[in-house]
Amino acid sequence: MLVLISNLGSTSFKYRLFRMEAGGGEDVAKGGYERVTDHAVAIHDALEQLQRDGVIGSPDEIDAVGFKTVLGKDLSGCVIADQAAIDALEGFAAVAPAHNPPYAEGIRQFGKLLPNARLVALFETAFYQWTSPASHHYAIPASWRSIGIRRYGFHGASHKFIAERSAELCGREDVAETVRRLYLDGPKTSGPKPFRVISCHLGGSSSVTGIRDGVAIGTSMGFSPQSGLPQNNRVGELDSGALPYAMRTLGLSLEEAERQLTKESGLLGLSGVSNDIRDINEAAATGNADAALALDVLIHSIRHWIGAFLIELGGLDALVFTAGIGENGKALRARVCEGLEAFGIRMDPQANEDCRATESFIQAENSTVKIMVIPANEELVLAREVFRKLS
Ligand code: ADP
Repeated sequence: MLVLISNLGSTSFKYRLFRMEAGGGEDVAKGGYERVTDHAVAIHDALEQLQRDGVIGSPDEIDAVGFKTVLGKDLSGCVIADQAAIDALEGFAAVAPAHNPPYAEGIRQFGKLLPNARLVALFETAFYQWTSPASHHYAIPASWRSIGIRRYGFHGASHKFIAERSAELCGREDVAETVRRLYLDGPKTSGPKPFRVISCHLGGSSSVTGIRDGVAIGTSMGFSPQSGLPQNNRVGELDSGALPYAMRTLGLSLEEAERQLTKESGLLGLSGVSNDIRDINEAAATGNADAALALDVLIHSIRHWIGAFLIELGGLDALVFTAGIGENGKALRARVCEGLEAFGIRMDPQANEDCRATESFIQAENSTVKIMVIPANEELVLAREVFRKLS
């Protein structure tokens, strides 16, 4: 099955083509466009490029297109990307303005350009469908809840992959199989021995998710991708009282306040240096106190959420780091794990140092919790989900 994974931003379009079969798949082509003003033109061009390169004889050979959609109003899961999916994306366009409109448009365009391909949307919220009401509700009036305000959670494709891969690497094939079939069969009742994972996706945007027996029990991200850990340039968690106070005191319009919270906050806002952790590390190393503070706040927030899920899970089998910072940030990983011996979490400093952003165990011999680095591969995860859905 030829599956095209389509990654749509407000001014970008990237794609990867996979040949999928039972038991695996391989990447056969990839490409992308920046500064896109018309997604239809970019998609059309990509399909022509694949033909020119001899990867496909005709666009009809593409069996399916997968979309990593972010947030749908009243819709989640791994679903056929039809008009209902487009309506769900458009219903929450104001909550995820950078993501939802380009995906709604992309689905429409692919529907026109590849009328025979099957279109599948995997919502980033899908992995959190089974969290408890206590974990996903905010304490707000019924009228607010009735318009869909609750904790949804994001990075679902990445955390679900961690749920599956960590189970495989820890010899829990039973749990890995539950994860593989999760969007088809739903969760299985857990066996006698639980498998408890905390997954730290630390990248341009970051979140921490608690996972029991392959199913998410909660996550740091909330209603919008604007919550939880400090993000590269987005605020992360903020007391709701701060917004009206800042607007009144600084004389900000709602639009300007929103722009500052989504574009000038997070690690960039705190450090005043950059939204990239490599620049922040460099600045902190040369004595920049704001850069050091940005790192401290990020690490504090990661540990805060690890603590929350340690309690909720009632113990831990594996602590996993993934995405750009999780895979490469050795010093940050070491600081996250500092002083957690009482919880059975002991890092092997040499194994941490030697880890080259490949699948690795980095815990000490006497650690009861496995500490792992697992590289993220979100496109492959999506291609697998599309294949599972359609086979
Ligand atoms: P995105 O969420 O945009 O997909 P990534 O998962 O690629 O982002 O993560 C981007 C982050 O990873 C950046 O903050 C970048 O600084 C960080 N990163 C990438 N390489 C390294 C590295 N070698 N050391 C530390 N951080 C790194």
